[in-house]
Amino acid sequence: MKRTLSVLGSSGSIGRQTLTVAEACGHRVAALTVNRSAELAEAQARQFRPRLAVAVDRAAADDLRVRLSDTETKVLAGEEGLLEAASLPEADTVVTAIVGVAGLRPTLAAVDCGKRIALANKETLVCAGELVMARAKERGADIVPVDSEHSAIFQCLQGCHDRGEVRRLIITASGGPFYGKSCEELSLVTKEQALRHPNWSMGAKITVDSATLMNKGLEFIEAMRLYEMPPEKIQIVVHRESIVHSLVEFEDGAILAQLGSADMCLPIQYALTWPERTPGPARPLDLLNCPPLTFQRPDPDTFRCLGLALECAERGGTSTAILNGANEAAVALFLEDQISFLDISRLVERALAQVAPMDCPGLEDILEADRAARAAVHDFVR
Ligand code: NDP
Ligand code: MG
Repeated sequence: MKRTLSVLGSSGSIGRQTLTVAEACGHRVAALTVNRSAELAEAQARQFRPRLAVAVDRAAADDLRVRLSDTETKVLAGEEGLLEAASLPEADTVVTAIVGVAGLRPTLAAVDCGKRIALANKETLVCAGELVMARAKERGADIVPVDSEHSAIFQCLQGCHDRGEVRRLIITASGGPFYGKSCEELSLVTKEQALRHPNWSMGAKITVDSATLMNKGLEFIEAMRLYEMPPEKIQIVVHRESIVHSLVEFEDGAILAQLGSADMCLPIQYALTWPERTPGPARPLDLLNCPPLTFQRPDPDTFRCLGLALECAERGGTSTAILNGANEAAVALFLEDQISFLDISRLVERALAQVAPMDCPGLEDILEADRAARAAVHDFVR
């Protein structure tokens, strides 16, 4: 089935790979959005001829409007533009490939329109998963994960009609570039080393999250929300080879896994075509040339971000939004060379100690928790 897409975050790593899949598989693009990348948005708009192109940054939107003045594409700015792209009538599927909690309101807007959500923006589910999933159920919006681990679990659960039959979800983790290092060694690592992921090529924020293992903590919470699983039924195993993308263990002891090369085109494509499978651009996996597959226990004490995320997963309420907001602020500071690698977990821990969590939050409570966590991080650094 050919889909008509609205691609939120089309200039990013997932956004660009979504357009690769769209081109290879013949899906149409009705809208695309960027934050500041006007030049790339122009090239993408000239190729896919969407009805709408959005640059959230107003100066970038002015630039993009001039660049596209000889085309039929309408250009909008700001969050209003994002919301319009998320609810465009002709788009049946919204790919949420914005990084960070900035993706929350647009995701909700798409859910409210009952669109299929190909969800890459995990921060949305970490901060407001219960709210988003409840709203999706109410509006009949399918949320299909793009994150490779959650896509693997989603694929393993096809044909499982009773979630009570699931004993455990097993999420694999590459371990990132610093796997096996001690705290002393971690105190010396640089930004350049953190940005060199062994297996995946991704945006800067998620690459740093993979190095701190915060990414796996966020994915743990994402899995709880997507699959309505309690924390005790989810396990993380380190799998350095990134070939087994995740597994599901059933009550009879059977374990199903999804394997593939480390290529996001496959989970992106499946989120678009589910429940169908079609040929596409993903690199096939050559089993005869795979390294041996290994599985190990993660270390949430050395990789403190993972430990903190697991504590917040248990705690619930706005604690996951505080965790996420503090982490986004700390990672941004790390990328600006203002703090060290280990400062990321220190700042997140201090924000969690300072900002009191609340239970059963609404959207405004979640956004307020996010703001308070960011403010706490900036205060500490000052
Ligand atoms: P990138 O940093 O590569 O891309 C982010 C995209 O979001 C860009 O298009 C960027 O625009 C846009 N953007 C950034 N800030 C804002 C904002 N405030 N408002 C609106 N748009 C904004 O990220 P990735 O593609 O790596 O990741 C996107 C999401 O997918 C993240 O949530 C990540 O966790 C998740 N994900 C990514 C994977 C990957 O392989 N990359 C794998 C699994 C999940 P601009 O270019 O103008 O800055
Ligand atoms: Mg992942």
